[in-house]
Amino acid sequence: MNSNGQPRGRFAQIFAKDIAIDLGTANTLIWVKGQGILVNEPSIVAKNLDTNKVIAVGNEAKEMLGKTHHNLTTVRPLKDGVIADFQMADGMLQGFIRKMRLSRIARPRMVICIPSGVTPVEQRAVRESAERANAREVYLIEEPVAAAIGIGLDISKPVGNMIVDIGGGTTEIAVIALNGIVAKEAIRVAGDAEDQAIINWFHDKHKLEVGYATAERIKLEVGTGYNSDLTVVTVKGRDMVSGIPKIIEVGPEEIRKALWDTLQQIIGAIRRALERTPPELSADILDRGIILTGGGALLKGLDEILREETNLPVHVSEEPLLSVVRGTGMVLEDLKKYASVLL
Ligand code: ADP
Ligand code: MG
Repeated sequence: MNSNGQPRGRFAQIFAKDIAIDLGTANTLIWVKGQGILVNEPSIVAKNLDTNKVIAVGNEAKEMLGKTHHNLTTVRPLKDGVIADFQMADGMLQGFIRKMRLSRIARPRMVICIPSGVTPVEQRAVRESAERANAREVYLIEEPVAAAIGIGLDISKPVGNMIVDIGGGTTEIAVIALNGIVAKEAIRVAGDAEDQAIINWFHDKHKLEVGYATAERIKLEVGTGYNSDLTVVTVKGRDMVSGIPKIIEVGPEEIRKALWDTLQQIIGAIRRALERTPPELSADILDRGIILTGGGALLKGLDEILREETNLPVHVSEEPLLSVVRGTGMVLEDLKKYASVLL
């Protein structure tokens, strides 16, 4: 046995009492008390179209993306921040939990973080899915609240904090004070929309077809293209006229233009959330600024653009891809303290 009372060895089962899950549109992370983050994989499932059965989840399913044959396909069950496909969302959660090899003897408590746009019907589906995965008790929490806690903010104070969580499918903005959301705004424009904007740009301006993986790679490399130190960006795609693979080089300012509309939508949502914030809390935000989190917070130059556009201080959280799962874990460790933020 190790110090946590679990048997050692590769095939040892984990005796988990408490589990925190960040069910993100792009990535699912699972933290187990005493064990740390055991799952950090894309929110993707591969399913058999004939039987509608889940074949693989996470990394394994991602590897099949684009290489699937006629009766196999990959889906992202939470793509737009809503649970578009209940059965696949359930299959994904069950698949991830199975991967952790939890002992069936201990029925764990689970806190699950979901996008704030998820409807009550969808919330119930997530709860039932967790119960099927052997949960003893299930608690749900909204993404920006979990992020704020994970960042280390003391949200119980009468002080306003603005969190902007940019994920794959959704950007969620919340002003949080006294353990509650005072003003919020969620839009289905985030990292995926940025990738799509890059694809569209090369399609329209260069008659070049680029895939999602390429678009994402360009985004990671160039970021907003604002004040970029790059001089050229190499883009591989397929010429739409000849049908032949082709490589072109563009400057970072093209990526800036490609992303401009998408970034304007995110800025617009931040402005709306600021307009809805009561004046007392606006004053706090003026002092403390906006905190960016979620994978989209890593977009190079985004903080600078937001600073210019809002005239507010803008901070990028530490390890933005982990703040939600950390916060969800912290809630799990002290359910009493955080009772008022649970759904
Ligand atoms: P979700 O909570 O919706 O699952 P995440 O917080 O995991 O989303 O963020 C995923 C998004 O972050 C993806 O769109 C991905 O492209 C983007 N992302 C990750 N790293 C970077 C980076 N370095 N620059 C820009 N975007 C990034
Ligand atoms: Mg997230």
